Amino acid sequence: MSEGLSISPESVEAWLHELLPGSRIYVLDQVHSDGIVFAEEVVPGDIPSADGIISRDTDAVLCIRTADCVPVLLWADDMPLIGAVHAGWRGLAKGIVKKGIKLMQSLGASAIHVGIGPCIGICCYEVSKDVADVFGPQEVVHNGSAMYLDLAGAALSQCLEAGVREHMVYKINLCTSCHPGQFFSYRRDGDAAGRNLSLIGGKSWSLPGLQVG
Ligand SMILES: [Zn+2]
Repeated sequence: MSEGLSISPESVEAWLHELLPGSRIYVLDQVHSDGIVFAEEVVPGDIPSADGIISRDTDAVLCIRTADCVPVLLWADDMPLIGAVHAGWRGLAKGIVKKGIKLMQSLGASAIHVGIGPCIGICCYEVSKDVADVFGPQEVVHNGSAMYLDLAGAALSQCLEAGVREHMVYKINLCTSCHPGQFFSYRRDGDAAGRNLSLIGGKSWSLPGLQVG
């Protein structure tokens, strides 16, 4: 956590360059789409509008910013290939996690691991009927008239649908809203919320990652 640091993608990228000098760092202008870009096609210095990124260069550092949405990190055992996806309900509804895995498979990866990072849990993520109706009954819990969505569960379902074996998926079951000392949460903190950073690539990868705000 860094006081006074802006949460914009440009600021986060500049901060990561200071933290990881000499690294090729990729930050996205996340727009709740199912757009996934290849790092090798990004013009240096550009911040693409997309919600996923894949790189054949495992020394590259891919960064996803979240404050309740699901950060999903991907890596292959059988070839140099990494990926990172930002998945809120809109992105999940568009199948972005499954799409990211399929893209990696289309490049030749078959042994793909997935890290599903901290996000708002089913304990706290009350949604409208319109949102709940987008998902299957296994991802929605009813409590009286209230409905709660299991974002991480939806991400896991897409991994399995894409053919990733369950033991290759590492799901961190920590709710961002329930853990104010550890994570930022938009639902809890509103516009004042910072961003949790999830990184993959470089010399090492980390979950839950760094926080700015
Ligand atoms: Zn919670």
